[in-house]
Amino acid sequence: MSDHKQHLDTRAVHAGVYIDETHGSITTPIYPSSTFSFPKPGEAPHFNYGRCDHPTREALQQNLASLEGGHRAWACVSGMAAIQSVLFMLRAGDHVICGRDAYAGTLRLFLRILDRYNITFSLVAMEDEEAVRSSIRPETKMIWIETPTNPMMRVVDIAAMTAIAKEHDLISVVDNTFLTPVFQKPFELGADIIVHSTTKYLNGHSDVVGGAIICREEQYAEEIEFIVASAGLGQGPFDAWLVLRGIKTLGTRMRAHQDNAVRIAEFLSARPEVRRVNFPGLPDFPQSEVVARQQSGPGGMLSFELETSQVDPIRFVKAVRVFQLAVSLGGVESLIELPFSMSHYSMEEEEKVSAGLTPELVRMSPGIEHTDDLIADLDQAFHAAKL
Ligand SMILES: *Cc1c(COP(=O)(O)O)cnc(C)c1O
Repeated sequence: MSDHKQHLDTRAVHAGVYIDETHGSITTPIYPSSTFSFPKPGEAPHFNYGRCDHPTREALQQNLASLEGGHRAWACVSGMAAIQSVLFMLRAGDHVICGRDAYAGTLRLFLRILDRYNITFSLVAMEDEEAVRSSIRPETKMIWIETPTNPMMRVVDIAAMTAIAKEHDLISVVDNTFLTPVFQKPFELGADIIVHSTTKYLNGHSDVVGGAIICREEQYAEEIEFIVASAGLGQGPFDAWLVLRGIKTLGTRMRAHQDNAVRIAEFLSARPEVRRVNFPGLPDFPQSEVVARQQSGPGGMLSFELETSQVDPIRFVKAVRVFQLAVSLGGVESLIELPFSMSHYSMEEEEKVSAGLTPELVRMSPGIEHTDDLIADLDQAFHAAKL
């Protein structure tokens, strides 16, 4: 069993897992039942229809709430479904403040779909508190925080943002996908709601797409519960089971990802083919003071700009052998990509330029392979891509 006082590594293994006591199973059963029988008309069972909730999802939800130190959680079919559920709390006419280099799919949902329903968005440089303050309007309802940002790895001061949110009665939401509760605890910094793409580090094995919403208090929980069930955005039993299985190794995996990222960032910083490395763990990281305050580690993600007079970016990412050329992140296998033409392809050229996303920017999600093999792979790719 688990309680909130235990360490995260212990809760990751145990929280929610023993929800069904029928046979004393050590892992959570999968309940592929779309409906559950009523004892009699008018007397609904605890689980009554699979869209609304089911025992396997409930186990995962208890685990997610425990990891983030929240009140309640919902497991969704994707990270985007989780984000959509939170935005469904808004009404036509409402306004949202969001970081200018948020996840590309988040920006697509905000600017290309939700704007049809007359919800408006201001994209701001969230490192700049004044820029955030001056974007607040009477109709502003929500502030959307993602840190570190993707792919530039800029850090947003969560406590400063949630303080602004409190002053102006705004809902503060943190997308905690990149650092996970292992390295960042947004509720302790005042956030109201946390979202995740569990596709990434939480599941960690690149074999399922999923999302999560966690509420700090009861305040928004009833509304989120109603939305997830009504809009049909909750995760099915097989996928929920996979995420719960993946989460058990979260702490161990995150430390392995981070160790690799630190070593690789140091290796890249010393290379003449690299112009700049964006990684919160480097001594010259511009916002290291905020990092020290709100993160218990730099995390596992990094990006870097290649020196185009020395290497060809396309040849470089095609030359790697251990790293796989793919979007997404957070799995046990190392991935590499060019955000300009891959993960952030759908952004307008102008938006990319303003966010600092150049064609020579490489994003990397080191896996848990041995560091020496990853570094040897990058070394041979630099040679293969030399101009
Ligand atoms: C991947 C990702 C999402 C979207 O999640 P999906 O599971 O792909 O729908 C949202 N936010 C961040 C930071 C992500 O990396």
